[in-house]
Amino acid sequence: MITDKYGRYVDDIRISVTKKCNLKCIYCHHEGQWQNDFNKNDEMTPDEIYKIVEIGTKFGIKKVKLTGGEPLIRNDIYEIISKISKLNEIEDISLVTNGTLLKDSVKKLVESGLKRINVSLDCLEPSIYKNITKSNNNLIPNDIIEGIKLAIAHGLTPLKLNMVVLKGVNDTEIERMIELSSDLGATLQLIELVPYREREGFLKFHVDLSNIEEKIKKSAVKTKIRELQKRMIYFLENGAIIEFVKPYHNPEFCANCHRIRVTSAGRLKPCLRTNTNLINILEPLREGKSDKELEKLFINAIECRKPYYLD
Ligand code: SAM
Repeated sequence: MITDKYGRYVDDIRISVTKKCNLKCIYCHHEGQWQNDFNKNDEMTPDEIYKIVEIGTKFGIKKVKLTGGEPLIRNDIYEIISKISKLNEIEDISLVTNGTLLKDSVKKLVESGLKRINVSLDCLEPSIYKNITKSNNNLIPNDIIEGIKLAIAHGLTPLKLNMVVLKGVNDTEIERMIELSSDLGATLQLIELVPYREREGFLKFHVDLSNIEEKIKKSAVKTKIRELQKRMIYFLENGAIIEFVKPYHNPEFCANCHRIRVTSAGRLKPCLRTNTNLINILEPLREGKSDKELEKLFINAIECRKPYYLD
């Protein structure tokens, strides 16, 4: 296993498989691709994604998360999952989705070898959902919940609901989302907004989750700390499980980050918050460079990892 200059091992890779999405969430950070290579239409093939993960396994990568854009938009998402899941070193393969295409995909996702999913759902109220996602289709949260139930029934668990808390938009929905997660038997991840393309929007919507966390802590019957990014998990009396994701102004988060990213255009991305140290692995791969050369690029990406708070 390889560690970076700050002693952090890396066992987790988060791969954006497309930058295309069928929603236009007002706060989306596009997995940090809203700067440099956001306009590139290039996408990696299933074989290329497999190769990058395979290289990663030589350095201790054990967990893969597929993201986007919307990963379920890709017709070959099942092939991507199926190839990766054949790697013995990979213990966990998961996917984060907006859930809009989930219902019809569940069976094939399971058959391909997917272990679990995170579904992004910021509210239950249809008018708020429409306001956040700017979706043209007439989907409402209830349609997505149908897909979630099916996913749980097919064993894509522990299933997590991702809720980004936005001031004045969906912060009134937290209680309902806690209830929903407990009814479904899902974990609710309350996510603090991180900066995205529109600075003004960020300042308007950003909520420091500390106060909300304090309240939840008081009613928790049990707590746990997750190794990744030192996230706190609270267990409530009604069975709800709530995980806090607080990437903003949080040295603990960076100090305990064990994740590397890959952009949809095949750049190794050492940190969500910066695009100054991207490493193009796709081009050398397409040029037929040897595994040794690709491994060097992976090592370079680990070497230039730096906790964001140090900048
Ligand atoms: N389309 C998929 C989805 O909606 O889950 C995958 C891509 S989306 C960028 C991945 C996750 O990032 C979602 O859970 C989303 O809520 C979260 N996210 C997007 N922008 C964010 C921001 N500015 N701050 C915090 N989380 C954000």
